[in-house]
Amino acid sequence: MSVPAMQAWLVGASDAAKNDMAVDGVSILVFTLLHELGHIAHGDHADSAFAPYPTRAIDANLVPTAEKTREFAADAWAAERIKQAFTPGHRGFFASLNVQMGLTAVGWNLARRGLIENFGATVLRDPRLLFDAGYSHPNFARMLVANELVSDSPAAKALRNEFEKMREGRG
Ligand SMILES: [Zn+2]
Repeated sequence: MSVPAMQAWLVGASDAAKNDMAVDGVSILVFTLLHELGHIAHGDHADSAFAPYPTRAIDANLVPTAEKTREFAADAWAAERIKQAFTPGHRGFFASLNVQMGLTAVGWNLARRGLIENFGATVLRDPRLLFDAGYSHPNFARMLVANELVSDSPAAKALRNEFEKMREGRG
């Protein structure tokens, strides 16, 4: 795959020099495209859903906004498509498996960096670690939620819960 912006983002999602799990770029691209289709399915294309919004205080992830509600709904739509395809014999079975593995790898890499490598910053609730930059796509925090939506496993739930606890200052 040769999409410079995607490759630049993937460096943040998976760095081999840091012993991160490898993240399959095509699978993450599939999830991203499903997310965008979720916007279309929900009629979000009528306004600025596709445009990044500027960084403001309200963009801190703890504050719900209409944009974030739309983003979550699009993630949930994408997750539902992936779960539906995860049926042996379904033609999307292996693609679904790959997307799930990609989301798991991103979630694991993010959690490992937050909980182990950046332990000091985690303790200090460094906003650079716990909050996104205010842009809707793609967003590491949302990938943890997407991972949980797709897998619905205790591990994915625990990863997201730990992240939420750190972000709310309870971790
Ligand atoms: Zn979106």
